[in-house]
Amino acid sequence: MSDEFDVVVLGGGPGGYAAALRASQLNLSVALVEKDKVGGTCLHRGCIPTKALLHAGEVADTAREAAQFGIKAELQGVDLAKVHAYKDGVVNRSYKGLQGLIKAAKNVTLVEGEGRLTGRNTVSVGGRTLSGRNVVLATGSYSRTLPGLEIDGERVITSEHALTLDRLPSSVVILGGGIIGCEFASVWRSFGAEVTIVEALDRLLATEDEDSSKQVQRAFRRRGIKALLGKPFERVEHTDTGVRVTVTGGETLEADLLLVAVGRGPNTAGLGFEEQGIKMERGFVLTDERLRTNVPGVYAIGDIVPGPQLAHRGFQHGIFVAEEIAGQQPPVADERGIPRVTYCDPEVASVGLTEAAAREQYGADQITTYMYNLGGNSKSTILKTQGFVKLVRVADGPVVGVHMVGARVSELVGEAQLIYNWEAFPVDVAQLIHAHPTQGEALGEAHLALTGKPLHTHD
Ligand code: FAD
Repeated sequence: MSDEFDVVVLGGGPGGYAAALRASQLNLSVALVEKDKVGGTCLHRGCIPTKALLHAGEVADTAREAAQFGIKAELQGVDLAKVHAYKDGVVNRSYKGLQGLIKAAKNVTLVEGEGRLTGRNTVSVGGRTLSGRNVVLATGSYSRTLPGLEIDGERVITSEHALTLDRLPSSVVILGGGIIGCEFASVWRSFGAEVTIVEALDRLLATEDEDSSKQVQRAFRRRGIKALLGKPFERVEHTDTGVRVTVTGGETLEADLLLVAVGRGPNTAGLGFEEQGIKMERGFVLTDERLRTNVPGVYAIGDIVPGPQLAHRGFQHGIFVAEEIAGQQPPVADERGIPRVTYCDPEVASVGLTEAAAREQYGADQITTYMYNLGGNSKSTILKTQGFVKLVRVADGPVVGVHMVGARVSELVGEAQLIYNWEAFPVDVAQLIHAHPTQGEALGEAHLALTGKPLHTHD
C-alpha cells in the first residue's frame, strides 16, 4: 500500500507533533509516525514526570519545614505508590489532551509503528510505505552511558528507570552533575535519601554561568547533597545491598543504586538516514540554519540536531519547519535566546551568554555584570529562598545574559527572555513597573542598579 502526504513526520515527540499540528493548520496533509506514544520523551519520560516528582519533593520539604512558618505539621513519610499515581495522573491527563489535539487536527494521520527512512522521501512502517513531498526527522534521544558501564535497570539505572522505581532508595550515587543529575539529586534528597553526585568537571551545571554553579553547590551542601567535583568515575561493582562506585583517586562510595545521567545521545542508529545520504556527525543529523538536511525535502528537528536538547527548542523547530514547508519563510531563531531551566531546589534559569562567553565574544573590558542578591527582594524573603539575579551587559549596550538562582525563578525566565531577545538596554527594563511584592522585582532592581539608580540593594 502506498500513501502520499505533503509531510511525513518520523517521531511524535515535542518536535514531531508540533510540526504535524502546525502543518495541519497550514492545510498540509501529514502522516505522523510514532512507535510508542505521542508526546515522546518529554511527556512520558522527561520534562513532565520529573517536574511532578520535583513538586512532590517540594511538598515534602514544605511539610518538613512547616514550623518555620508557624504551621504545625510534620512529614510522616513518603508513599511512593501515591507519588507515582499523582505523577502518572499528570502525564495521562496531558497525554489524553495531546491525543485529542492530534485527532482533531485536520489532515493528520497518526501511523503507529516503527518507521525507517527507505528512500529520500519515503518512510516505511510495517508493510506500509508513506511518501512525503517533505520528510521531517524527529526521532529524539536516549540516555547515554559510559563505555563498559552496563545499565541493568535495577541497581545501575537511567532516568527512565528512576521515574518508575518501586522503592525509595536510602542512598544514591548520581553520575553526572548536569540538569538531569541535579534534578534527581533534588527529588531524592527531598524524599530523604543520602545523595552524592559524581562529576568529572569541576562544577555542577557546567554549561551555566559559574556563579549559578557556585550558588547551587552551596545550596546543595546546605541541603546535605554531596558533590564530588573533578572526580571522573572509574567503575561500579555490585555489593550485597547495592553498588560500590569508585572514582579516580580510589575514593569509593556505597549506595543502594547508581543513576547514570551523563547526557543523551541522538536516536538515529539503524533508521536508514545514512543510507539515504544524510550527513551525520557522531550520530546527530547535520542541518543548515533552516533545519534542512543536505538531502532536498528532508528536515531534521529536536534532540537529533546538535544544540541544546530541550522540549521547547523541539516545539520551535517543529513549528518552524512546518511554516518553512508551507513557504512562509519564518525567521531563524537565535539559539542563545532559548531559555534554560534546571528545576532543582533551588531552581536555576538563564538566557543568553554566560559572563565567560560574553567576555570571550566581546572582550573582557566590554562586559559589565551586576548581581542582585534575592535577600533584597521581599517575595524571596517571604519564601525564605536565597539566590540572585545576575545581568551580563555589553558596555553601553544591551543585556546579553540573564542568570538566576532561587525558588521559582523558572517563572521569571519569560521576562528574561524578552529582555535578551529584544536586546533591551538596562534603562528600558528599569523603567518598567514590576508588581510588588514579586520576585520579578528582582529583575527590575538589577536593571535599576545597572543604570546607577539602585533602590533596594544590599551592597
Ligand atoms: P523525543 O521527545 O525523544 O521524541 C521522539 C519520538 O520519536 C519518541 O516518541 C519516539 O518513540 C519516536 N521515535 C523514535 N524513533 C522512531 C521510529 N523509528 N519510528 C517511529 N517513532 C520513533 N526538556 C525541557 O525543555 N524541559 C525539561 O524540564 C526537561 N526535562 C527532562 C527530564 C528528563 C529526565 C529527560 C530525559 C529529558 C528532559 N528534557 C527536558 C528534554 C526533552 O524531553 C527533550 O528535549 C524533548 O523530548 C526532545 O523532543 P524530540 O521531539 O526531539 O524527541
